[in-house]
Amino acid sequence: MMNYDLLIIGAGPGGIFSAYEAKKLNPDLKIGLFESGNSLERRKCPIDGVKIKSCINCKTCGIMNGFGGAGAFSDGKYNITNEFGGTLYEYVGKKEAIDLMNYVDQINVENGGQDTKLYCNENSHLKKVCMQNDLHLLSANVRHLGTDINYIVLENLYKQLKDCVDIHFNTHIDSVEKLEDGYRIISGDSSWTGTTCIISTGRSGSKWMGNICKSLNIKTKSNRVDIGVRVELPYAIFSTLTDELYESKIVYRTEKFQDKVRTFCMNPRGVVVSENTNGIVTVNGHSYEDPARYTENTNFALLVSNHFTEPFKDSNEYGESIARLSNMLGGGVIVQRFGDLIRGQRSTESRVRESFVTPTLTATPGDLSLVIPKRQLDDIIEMIYQLDKVAPGTANDDTLLYGVEVKFYNLEVELDKNLETCHKGLYVIGDCSGVTHSLSHASASGVYVARHLYGNK
Ligand SMILES: Cc1cc2nc3c(=O)[nH]c(=O)nc-3n(C[C@H](O)[C@H](O)[C@H](O)COP(=O)(O)OP(=O)(O)OC[C@H]3O[C@@H](n4cnc5c(N)ncnc54)[C@H](O)[C@@H]3O)c2cc1C
Repeated sequence: MMNYDLLIIGAGPGGIFSAYEAKKLNPDLKIGLFESGNSLERRKCPIDGVKIKSCINCKTCGIMNGFGGAGAFSDGKYNITNEFGGTLYEYVGKKEAIDLMNYVDQINVENGGQDTKLYCNENSHLKKVCMQNDLHLLSANVRHLGTDINYIVLENLYKQLKDCVDIHFNTHIDSVEKLEDGYRIISGDSSWTGTTCIISTGRSGSKWMGNICKSLNIKTKSNRVDIGVRVELPYAIFSTLTDELYESKIVYRTEKFQDKVRTFCMNPRGVVVSENTNGIVTVNGHSYEDPARYTENTNFALLVSNHFTEPFKDSNEYGESIARLSNMLGGGVIVQRFGDLIRGQRSTESRVRESFVTPTLTATPGDLSLVIPKRQLDDIIEMIYQLDKVAPGTANDDTLLYGVEVKFYNLEVELDKNLETCHKGLYVIGDCSGVTHSLSHASASGVYVARHLYGNK
């Protein structure tokens, strides 16, 4: 006799939406949802900017782990597009992928997001302006929930799940065993069995996922990591883009190395934050829907994609090594003025203090050229000058660059079109599958597998 019909590991967007949809399709299902981190209200990052100014490596990270996953305190930008955020469409088809993302959007709207805005850039004149400057604006509809509304949506989803799904918080699953007719998952001295198992352990569970794949002989590959900086500048400089589009994903191919650089995670009037992935401190950004929490700055990442070929297999280790260098030199995140970088001088406390842009994150003034490899740094500088053509002022001396921002890609797990592994009844969804890298794609993958399992076939 199994404990559950369905075991779900990880309560991020992927896990939450698979539980939500499975329960909706079959209310009699017995579902166990297992999460390393805390419930939503107990998730706390100890950094208060006064007593604790930087990451102290908590056992489970309040930002990355717990109900809501890595997305809980995110900016809550749900990008409805096949152009970025994952390759779900390769498995389910382009139309189905968009339909799934729209369905997720509808649930978010019904659960607290009703007053938020859906931005669309399909017919924007800015597309042409970008193109005239060899910059390529990717198409997307973007629902911006904002960190505050995103939290409310999660609270509402939790209220609906808590009485009909067994949610086990602070339960890190150590291993997954295949049984004759299902799966056993083990956490310390405890274990649970289930007929079907969905793994949705996200980015923070990436290494863990690799070990599970090894133990169950599931094929994987890993060949990509994106490295760059977070740019912070006055809101006014980017307002032409952000007022109309909110988030603009712009891609540029550099002249020198022919590398692709892209803007990522744009936060108008937002704040720069540090984040901790497996003990490595990197940089990220947030913004709030509530005008009372607006800042005077906009921040976004500039990332260079690095694709590796044989014999190198561990692209994430490459990214981690660079992040470790910045942690070693700066004790965490390093900040540098663009003007200092161009003149080959480090930024100092006084240069940053005298800058016309006030940093929203306390970071160590330093020299990013000691950390980021020349190729990627040249790419970033070239992109900043290019962006200056559509948003004059981007290349000002006082523009702040925080480093490093690393976008780790999970290893790609070999899956069939239903996101099922070579083991019947074992599914891998969300960011830990390597198929998705975003809130809407991860959530959509959860809905998709639940429908495959319990919907009308
Ligand atoms: C600061 C920040 C801002 C972001 N902003 C955006 C944004 O605006 N828009 C966007 O599209 N994306 C954003 N992202 C990315 C987005 O959050 C992720 O793509 C998304 O959360 C992936 O969902 P997931 O369910 O696959 O994984 P996750 O959200 O990572 O959830 C996985 C969960 O599994 C748990 N877990 C891991 N291992 C185990 C284990 N062994 N046992 C039990 N539980 C385990 C973790 O604790 C975690 O809660 C942001 C990410 C961060 C960190």
